[in-house]
Amino acid sequence: MIVGDGSRTSFWHDCWIASECLATKFQALYTHTMDNQISVKYALQQGLTASLVPRLSETARQECQCLQDLLQDFSLNNERDIRTGGIMGKFTTKNIYDTRLPPGISSPNWNLIWKCRAPLKVKLFAWLLVRDRLSTKQNLLKKKIVQNGVCDVCQQGDETADHMCFTCPFVQSFWERIRVNPTIQDVRLLHQLKPSPNVPELHHHVFFLLCMWAIWNHRHDVVFRGQTPSIRCCLQRCINEAALWAENLKIEDRHVGKLSPPVI
Ligand SMILES: [Zn+2]
Repeated sequence: MIVGDGSRTSFWHDCWIASECLATKFQALYTHTMDNQISVKYALQQGLTASLVPRLSETARQECQCLQDLLQDFSLNNERDIRTGGIMGKFTTKNIYDTRLPPGISSPNWNLIWKCRAPLKVKLFAWLLVRDRLSTKQNLLKKKIVQNGVCDVCQQGDETADHMCFTCPFVQSFWERIRVNPTIQDVRLLHQLKPSPNVPELHHHVFFLLCMWAIWNHRHDVVFRGQTPSIRCCLQRCINEAALWAENLKIEDRHVGKLSPPVI
């Protein structure tokens, strides 16, 4: 156990993820806190939202969903806080996550997602994707929020995370259009994605994540804005996202963000 009763551990400043404390990692959400000194005990027992302002921005809402996912199932005990392991002996959210897995087993997607160079919003999306926590039609059906789980993009199958990223006919056309074969059909196997001949090997995982992020957002355009599914629009979103993302890379690496012919 990484912490005891969690009363002496600052939630925002002593919990770390990928070398940054939660206050830094989840900046948007942190700006919505009413009390930035809450303990881990308070956050877990009262719920994350108890110390947040009532209305969250969209980015903060996504960060909140992701953080709640990381924290769920984690329980405290009655012992005094003990901080062992983790980065620089800090209490880390990876430790939290690892406590939920069999001993010695860590999520193979953890490093891929949290240590890659993708924008935080894409990391949050990817984490919820591999954990099957996105609001796909199938997940909404399970919660009885929608009447059916059929994919609104193709109308030909149930919209699961796997369908949305790999088996939807629309998405298969997308992958074919950019001449990339993902080789997997299960989002939990994201770590097994291999560089494709048409994609620069450097940051190739980010390339896949950006594509899936674009697919997810295009799906939103279809479902919520009534747009007709369009490979061209989806590709254009990819190009725009990649160009924006590449600006944060070293100058010598920025060429990987130029998704123009012949890549697309
Ligand atoms: Zn579909």
